[in-house]
Amino acid sequence: MPIYDIDYETMPREGLEAIQLRRLQTTIERIYATVPFYKETYDKAGIKPSDIKRLDDLRRLPFTTKQDLRDNYPYRMFAVPMEQVIRIHASSGTTGKPTVVGYTKRDINTWADLMARSMAAAGATAGDIIHNAWGYGLFTGGLGAHYGAERLGASVIPVSGGNTKRQITIMQDFKPTILCGTPSYILHLAEVALEMGVDFKNLSFKSGIFGAEPWTEKMRHELETKLNLKAVDIYGLSEVMGPGVSVECVEEQKGLHIAEDHFIVEIVDPDTLEPVPPGDPGEIVFTTITKEAFPVIRYRTKDITSLNPVPCTCGRTHIRMNKPTGRTDDMLIIRGVNVFPSQIESVLMESREVAPHYQLVVDRVGNLDTLTVKVEIDEASFSDDIKGLQAMEGKISHDIKEYLGVSAKVALVEPKTIERSQGKAVRVIDNRQF
Ligand SMILES: [Zn+2]
Repeated sequence: MPIYDIDYETMPREGLEAIQLRRLQTTIERIYATVPFYKETYDKAGIKPSDIKRLDDLRRLPFTTKQDLRDNYPYRMFAVPMEQVIRIHASSGTTGKPTVVGYTKRDINTWADLMARSMAAAGATAGDIIHNAWGYGLFTGGLGAHYGAERLGASVIPVSGGNTKRQITIMQDFKPTILCGTPSYILHLAEVALEMGVDFKNLSFKSGIFGAEPWTEKMRHELETKLNLKAVDIYGLSEVMGPGVSVECVEEQKGLHIAEDHFIVEIVDPDTLEPVPPGDPGEIVFTTITKEAFPVIRYRTKDITSLNPVPCTCGRTHIRMNKPTGRTDDMLIIRGVNVFPSQIESVLMESREVAPHYQLVVDRVGNLDTLTVKVEIDEASFSDDIKGLQAMEGKISHDIKEYLGVSAKVALVEPKTIERSQGKAVRVIDNRQF
């Protein structure tokens, strides 16, 4: 597969690190002069921009958190005057105000380039037709992919999210070859398509670029067999840029290449904030080194993953991050056991009789936390055979205990009874009062 930006994407480590250092120094000097938050934080820590002499010196700088962005809502983290900002996006938080981010003309240009790189990595070329089912709006998915597709020279269909039946008609008639969307929504689409008598296998897709929520290898298998395409993972968050921070190559589909000429990556222990040993899992932290309007330094993403430094057969030299396995704040502690929804998902996917739609409900009864896993049974296995269903619930419950060490009640529910989301799936309902 052709590499979009061959010079930068295959640059040897040494050259890449020289560029990173130069860009980091420029960024730190600029934000120290323009963003009061960074000046105050660095003054307090006794660090001057001129102290950044090597890449390792980045570790001397304090982290930036979502709370810092909230405290400076809406525009106080911007490093350029408003007349240079040409786009604003925002991400919804689970609590409180959204996080507001801005882009200069050059930022939008960089982002389009990185999304074009990402689409090329997934196998897209100028000759492809891209069905973009990410939402257009404040969310970065829709417009991010849109600009990238145009930059690549492909034909983009700006379908956005929702209107599921219309999406399927468009897929049949317009014959798109690349599909972009949130994996849980795409599986929902496949389900509705079947109801309409449309088999995804007969559509014209060759690759799917899926992201905006963590998904597992089991889900990749599910997507690839149901949709008859190559499924690659894309990663990004609005605070850092949007989608295109990292992407899997279609050659290996084993971890996401991080655009290291634009972002410096670290993995830290979320408790001690110290770097983890190479290859170990921890919280992924990003520093942007080319962004003008909204640079972030050592931004804590709360996403848990690890880095894979093994050279990739696709030829790209940029380091890969493994698929995120969850978030530090998604993590449930059930009777002292750390549980990520993605781990439960892996267990559920082992069972051929259940559909990939599930929800975890946590309650506190007395002083005891209880976990109920609601999971849909697939159409074919759904029957009135109570004994059969009970046996299946027992088996899944046993498997969860076996793999995760936590007791869970499993409740099989009828097909299509768990509410479908047009965006990120709601995987956890926590009814506990702390
Ligand atoms: Zn690769």
